Amino acid sequence: MTWKLTKFELDNQNLLVNESLLSLGNGYLGIRGNFEEGYKEGYKSIRGAYINAFHDETDITYGEKLYGFPGTQQKILNVIDAQTIRIYLDGELFSLFEGEVLFCERNLHMDRGFAERIVHWISPQGKEVKIHFKRLVSFATRELFAIDIKVEAVTPIEQVKIVSTVNGDVSNFVDKEDPRLASGHAKRLHVTEVRQENRFNIVKDTTYVTSLEVACVSTSSIEAENHTYDSNLTNSRIEEVYVCAGKEPIHFTKFSVYTDTLRHGKNLVEEAVNILQQAQTKTFEMLLAEQKSYLDNYWEIADVAIEGDERVQEGIRFNLYQLLQSVGKDPASNISAKGLSGEGYEGHYFWDTEIYIFPVFLMTNPEIAKNLLLHRYSILDSARKRAKEMGHEKGALFPWRTITGSESSAFFPAGTAQYHISADIAYSYIQYYLATKDEEFMKDYMAEVLFETARLWADAGHMHNGEFRIDSVTGPDEYTCIVNNNYYTNAMAKHNLLWAAKVYEFLKKADSDRLHQLASQLELTETEVGIWQSAGASMYLPYDETLGINAQDDSFLRKARWDLKNTPTDKFPLLLNYHPLTLYRYQVLKQADTVLAHFLLEDEQDFQTIKNSYDYYEQITTHDSSLSSCVHSIMASKLGYQEKAYDYFNETARLDLENTHKNTKDGLHMANMGGTWLGIVYGFAGLRLKESGLSLAPALPAEWTSLEFRLRYQGRLLKIHKNREATTYMVVEGEGLTITHNGKALDLESGQEVKVQ
Ligand code: BGC
Repeated sequence: MTWKLTKFELDNQNLLVNESLLSLGNGYLGIRGNFEEGYKEGYKSIRGAYINAFHDETDITYGEKLYGFPGTQQKILNVIDAQTIRIYLDGELFSLFEGEVLFCERNLHMDRGFAERIVHWISPQGKEVKIHFKRLVSFATRELFAIDIKVEAVTPIEQVKIVSTVNGDVSNFVDKEDPRLASGHAKRLHVTEVRQENRFNIVKDTTYVTSLEVACVSTSSIEAENHTYDSNLTNSRIEEVYVCAGKEPIHFTKFSVYTDTLRHGKNLVEEAVNILQQAQTKTFEMLLAEQKSYLDNYWEIADVAIEGDERVQEGIRFNLYQLLQSVGKDPASNISAKGLSGEGYEGHYFWDTEIYIFPVFLMTNPEIAKNLLLHRYSILDSARKRAKEMGHEKGALFPWRTITGSESSAFFPAGTAQYHISADIAYSYIQYYLATKDEEFMKDYMAEVLFETARLWADAGHMHNGEFRIDSVTGPDEYTCIVNNNYYTNAMAKHNLLWAAKVYEFLKKADSDRLHQLASQLELTETEVGIWQSAGASMYLPYDETLGINAQDDSFLRKARWDLKNTPTDKFPLLLNYHPLTLYRYQVLKQADTVLAHFLLEDEQDFQTIKNSYDYYEQITTHDSSLSSCVHSIMASKLGYQEKAYDYFNETARLDLENTHKNTKDGLHMANMGGTWLGIVYGFAGLRLKESGLSLAPALPAEWTSLEFRLRYQGRLLKIHKNREATTYMVVEGEGLTITHNGKALDLESGQEVKVQ
């Protein structure tokens, strides 16, 4: 049951949410869960098809534009619509908003990779019909979107007409009231080609500014007795019209292939035609079989099985499924904050990737994780350029939000000032190395990224009274901006600096030729590495003696505390109801900040400081950001606050399914979805990945009877099962190893189950 998400609502608000929940994707292409025939008049719909990283550039308009403010930003585009199909029964248009719905169910099959809508309907004129819609976005052929429809008359119907459209005249969704959505520039594509060739419907669009092209080549077929076929072309769309006798069941399929200049070069139409010809050799059933086999492989490693809580089980599977559907699997793409499920945050990539999503793939599907790192590597030159623009002599400053590498944030206090993203990226490279021991990757990519980010810190900070300090930055908490010595930033920068020096030393021994080459390419000297080492070693990490906590930054604890208890519930999220400056003046957090640093770098502080800090910050954290509860859950687990751990976890597991942040319509919260997995594996099961190896400390929430998951680690596959009595480990693939279990070394032999308390 928990492999299938079932939905059916017809009110506009839920329809919009379901468009996101029932969206389909494969990391390249994403299609929202819209009704083929549309909704009733006056209803809003965010009808969408997206290609990861396919974007246009728009000007950012400022009242006052100062030096270094980005002049343009990127925006993911809603591309050519191939979803639209209308069905007429003896002239009456099928619509769930008319007539009588005897039955309707919408399902998303997370183990089989398709969505369906099963309908039993009576038209206003009394024509009764069963219609079964199925759709998939192929994992095997990333460009392919397929729809399959079966129409069966229950009462006599003379004629069934099917009108299938490919429409190049499309726009993005805008909302002027919500800062998390675009407020303008809805139309960014113009149609440059519309033609039909051997029943292939070809539509090509070009972006206004970037001159990127997207093509959709679509074809449909029908199994029906006595049907006629016709087609109409306008300058922006192609309509195919089938008219069939309604007596026999009708089976209609439509295959649409999307290509774009970023991946397919100039001959994108020819490429699409070739791909579609290949796809045509398969039936829809065969495509379904491919989906199943791809997903069997995915779930074999990625599934987390929970006994005792079906709602959580559904949540975790849904979240893992949607992450897979959205994560970019080619170096042109990453995973945006809303994945490929919506337009919120305009398809931008944030630190959400490194801190919340990357670890899931690192430990279950390292190839996907590697691709995320390669994508960041591909924008290293832009990060170097941005560092220069921001006044740094050397180094790389990664953009806070971007698609192609240039900064897309217009609000620098909560954007560019979040310098920590550069250390977050470095952190993910280090985690990758620890999880894979891939030395070639270290030499080819990681060293350069670490060196360039270390340079940024060395240049951004300064020595003062023997301590290295970093002023005027913003940490993860966006309700506290532009501060000196944000604990999170300083701790992450320290890690970045010390690891850069370590990698330098490692290369000196392991591959001096490569080091030599890199050093001359980067004009890097040993003196500079010495500076990183001493900056890292003398990094100032704010600590308050009286409270026994790490201060979020130099001024934070001197501010007045926001009165959260007496803030009316309709004032949340605070960012939509208070000016930023009002928020900055108070001790109030949008999201975990120091608490997150204590999770990522737990060895920086003793247990008591971490506990005191958690107790302190928890009181003033709103969790207005969806990136927060999961971190509090993980840390509550570490600190032995079991109930809290479970409560926070519960908020993450079904955040989108319950639309608790009230904006799921704009797309799913990808970071939170990763956070659910982190809450289980790093939280309840206590996983940590350090130089000393892998450690776990599994505990089971009172509500569950067992928990099982798998991890990839240095070429091995490990299975971990926890129930009330014991934890059982097994190295399923690869050599044995020694892990740490509840603080003690534990030897695991390959293929042998080891049961421990
Ligand atoms: C959060 C950021 C996050 C962004 C995109 C914001 O609301 O505060 O931390 O990166 O959303 O998910």
